[in-house]
Amino acid sequence: MKFPPLVCSLAALAATLLTATPTPAQTTPAKSIIARRSALPTAVATDPKIAALREAALRDDTAYAIIEGVTTEVGPRLDGSEAEGRARVWAMARLKSLGFANVHVEAFDVPTWQRGAESASVVAPYPQPLVIVGLGNSAATPPEGLTLPVAYFASYSDMLLSPPGSLAGKIAFVSNAMQPTQDGSSYGSEGKARFSGPGEAAKRGAAAILIRSIGTDHSRSPHTGVTDFPSGVTPIPAAALSVSDAENLERMVKRGPVTVHLALDDHQIGLRPSGNVVAEVPGTDPGAGIVLIGGHLDSWDKGTGAIDDGAGIAITAAAAKLLMASGPHRRTIRVVWFGDEETGGFGGLAYAKQHASEPHALAAESDFGADRVWRFKAKLPGTALTDSLAAALAPLGILRAAGAVDGGEDVGPMLEKGAAGVDLNQNGLRYFDWHHTSEDTLDKIDPQQLRQNVAAWAVMLAIIADAPETLPDKAAPQKQ
Ligand code: ZN
Ligand code: ZN
Repeated sequence: MKFPPLVCSLAALAATLLTATPTPAQTTPAKSIIARRSALPTAVATDPKIAALREAALRDDTAYAIIEGVTTEVGPRLDGSEAEGRARVWAMARLKSLGFANVHVEAFDVPTWQRGAESASVVAPYPQPLVIVGLGNSAATPPEGLTLPVAYFASYSDMLLSPPGSLAGKIAFVSNAMQPTQDGSSYGSEGKARFSGPGEAAKRGAAAILIRSIGTDHSRSPHTGVTDFPSGVTPIPAAALSVSDAENLERMVKRGPVTVHLALDDHQIGLRPSGNVVAEVPGTDPGAGIVLIGGHLDSWDKGTGAIDDGAGIAITAAAAKLLMASGPHRRTIRVVWFGDEETGGFGGLAYAKQHASEPHALAAESDFGADRVWRFKAKLPGTALTDSLAAALAPLGILRAAGAVDGGEDVGPMLEKGAAGVDLNQNGLRYFDWHHTSEDTLDKIDPQQLRQNVAAWAVMLAIIADAPETLPDKAAPQKQ
């Protein structure tokens, strides 16, 4: 785990940033690719059961129905809120109606942050409104707000060069230049302005901080997300400007001094109930280890949580449902719709604590939207299983890639405990246009790409659930 507040695939993205290597297909001469393909295990590639499952998934709209349901019947579901509680009730009913066994909630409490009224405007050189959103864990301003000069930094790195105390009596304004990337790696680099910027500004005495949204759009929909104030650092008011507002403010500060008014009524409200919703497709061999999959049920409050992470809970549950219909299978598949991913990853930590002594064969999650899977990475014993995955995923246009398997915020703790893992990486080029904004709504889901995701997960599950190998094989750990 690379950053303490690993939120929303941040772990996966940071790991990708640190370990990204070209896929074999990108670097290998055509002759070698042909040779490798001919060496694939044709018994699996042509397995009619796997092919039938893949084809069934490409015609299946269970996942879309789940996203449509949670966005319409529950809506936004911020961690620790009444809405997240309603989401758990909804999830129990939906998972039972899909035919899953052992459906239940595993409860835990979470420190909860509550958004109140938020506003900002330029006061001088002339008045104009700014579109902002508070960051999770932001402190409140005084009721009358703060009216202070802006201290501009072109990047997070620039702000780190300013000495302690230098931002006293000022509102820090940190810009950035986030570019869309297929693997989402720019979230790991530019995202520091959000998850560490406010704490670093507080250390330098800033009264408050505004950041340019961590997003790749050009709109007036600002991107929220959690920020982390290290222990010993008193939280300050922290908000994100929409990309359009940030660019306008940037042009203004380059012309001369700017004064901004900021008012945030955001507060920590103490511990509140959260929980993981658990459902299973029982296997025939209880000793073979659990196959843990899932996404997170909670969402930010501005949109309806369609791409983040209605998509993930839907893709994994729909794939498991297809396995249920094609069963029986050797291993139990456990679908977990995690609570509280967004503000601290407490759901994944609570699961790992509660199930510490239970053997887990594999852990994998989906938390990067619903656009098509373009590559996979595997941490599996031997090479035969990974070869089988490559053969089964190739017809879906999915490449085999090198690099460490991370899993993500929710299943990361189980991978750290030794479970095998598979990452099915989605195309991230559009994801950060809408991530954590009011634009995260059902219309951003492409049903065709969603089905491709379900197909990828279904064939992966079928191969892992029935694999004769011991998973994980602790006697022969694999290089990544
Ligand atoms: Zn998120
Ligand atoms: Zn997420």
